[in-house]
Amino acid sequence: MMTKLIFEKSKKNTNGINLTEENINFDFIDNRYIRTNKKTILPEISELEVMRHYKELSDKNFCIEKGFYPLGSCTMKYNPKVNEVLAGLEGFCELHPLQSDEDSQGALKLMYNLQEALKKITGMNAVTLQPAAGAHGELCGMMIVKKYFESIGENRKNVIIPDSAHGTNPASAAMCGFNIIEIKSNEKGLVDIDALKAVLDDNTAAIMLTNPNTLGLFEEEILEISKLVHEAGGLLYYDGANMNAIMGYTNPKLMGFDIVHMNLHKTFSTPHGGGGPGAGPVGVVENLKEFLPVPVVDSDGSKYYRKYDLKNSIGKMKAFYGNFSILVRAYAYILLMGKELKEASANAVLNANYMMNKLKEHYLLPYDRKCMHEFVLSGDWQKEQGVNTLGIAKRLMDSNFHPPTIYFPLIVHEAIMIEPTESESKEVLDDFINTMIEIANEVKATPDDVLKHPLNTPVRKVDETLAARKPDLAYKLQ
Ligand SMILES: *Cc1c(COP(=O)(O)O)cnc(C)c1O
Repeated sequence: MMTKLIFEKSKKNTNGINLTEENINFDFIDNRYIRTNKKTILPEISELEVMRHYKELSDKNFCIEKGFYPLGSCTMKYNPKVNEVLAGLEGFCELHPLQSDEDSQGALKLMYNLQEALKKITGMNAVTLQPAAGAHGELCGMMIVKKYFESIGENRKNVIIPDSAHGTNPASAAMCGFNIIEIKSNEKGLVDIDALKAVLDDNTAAIMLTNPNTLGLFEEEILEISKLVHEAGGLLYYDGANMNAIMGYTNPKLMGFDIVHMNLHKTFSTPHGGGGPGAGPVGVVENLKEFLPVPVVDSDGSKYYRKYDLKNSIGKMKAFYGNFSILVRAYAYILLMGKELKEASANAVLNANYMMNKLKEHYLLPYDRKCMHEFVLSGDWQKEQGVNTLGIAKRLMDSNFHPPTIYFPLIVHEAIMIEPTESESKEVLDDFINTMIEIANEVKATPDDVLKHPLNTPVRKVDETLAARKPDLAYKLQ
């Protein structure tokens, strides 16, 4: 059912609060600031109706509080609400970013401790908390790569990226002026070592890798890869958006990486979606410490302070020092979990493997190997029977499941990328598995009926092309 716009619900002379001149003395406001044009374009509606209107809108939204959200590569997990409460504490919220270090010891200590925790988790030697998202962290990392080679007088132009990479990787490298060299994956879905050797030379600035990669597979040859890249004089960049695959088991340093970003809004307890806010801290090895954006938070053992004098700093990535409230949530989450961070990884991987093994009889599994936190099915079998992956995703919505990520990564036909995360119970996983099996059976029996879905969503099927190219989002006054 369509919801009316709040403007359409407007009824003349209705209001929630009476701000007319008889009720309020405006004398204290300077005349310059009093509106002379009385025609404000605001809906006229009562307080109760305003509340109902927005509640109705929010009810249309799908969220983790409403149902399972297996959106691959996005880590849509449950984030403990206590972290929201902590991020909302007055001492954090009311602190002004320009207040002195002396006045901000608590906040600086929190940032310092978070940097230390992220150093432990990644194995890196220094961390900046500034970048506001994963892609922003990648940009920061690529700027460091660029500045590093400038500082040693080399002009390396190429960044190598596997065809399974997240789309933001080539975009971030290209924004820094690097040429992107794509290398194909082998039949196991991993980096093809021969293809890598073929493109490595003294023009190689870096390789950007996600490990586990976007197929959810662990790069088994990672030590060989890092050796080859380092021998060619290049740096290794680790896309650690989904750290919950490996936390506590291994880390990017042990694999030979030089720079890593993490998504606090995926692994470390910040709800995300709709574009943020998030945080994408970047960690680096010892010899890249001086390239981090400023300020970094440091301590002399008793006091905490913002440090600006880094010799080769790339400058600033963001006003002040990042999205502070996201840092509070992440720090609270890490303290709450402690050593159980390792268990979170174990459960994320266990859940994904459990689902993958239950579903692989019913959906094509192109890379049939043990997966990490996610796995990628193909809808090819169903497509042959008349229902493509988009059809399966739309059908799932009518069973109160958010669809998985679809048509990504690009190297899998009709890709269905599923990430259950560590926070779901076996009952929820079984419900989803059974629904997916039910859908596979429906596709066999009555494919045309499957294609009629979704039937119960506020908006049914949209024209995918027009919706993206000609979105109609503005309210037009009659
Ligand atoms: C989510 C993700 C990103 C991008 O993170 P944003 O915060 O959305 O910019 C990069 N790489 C991988 C592997 C991701 O899953």
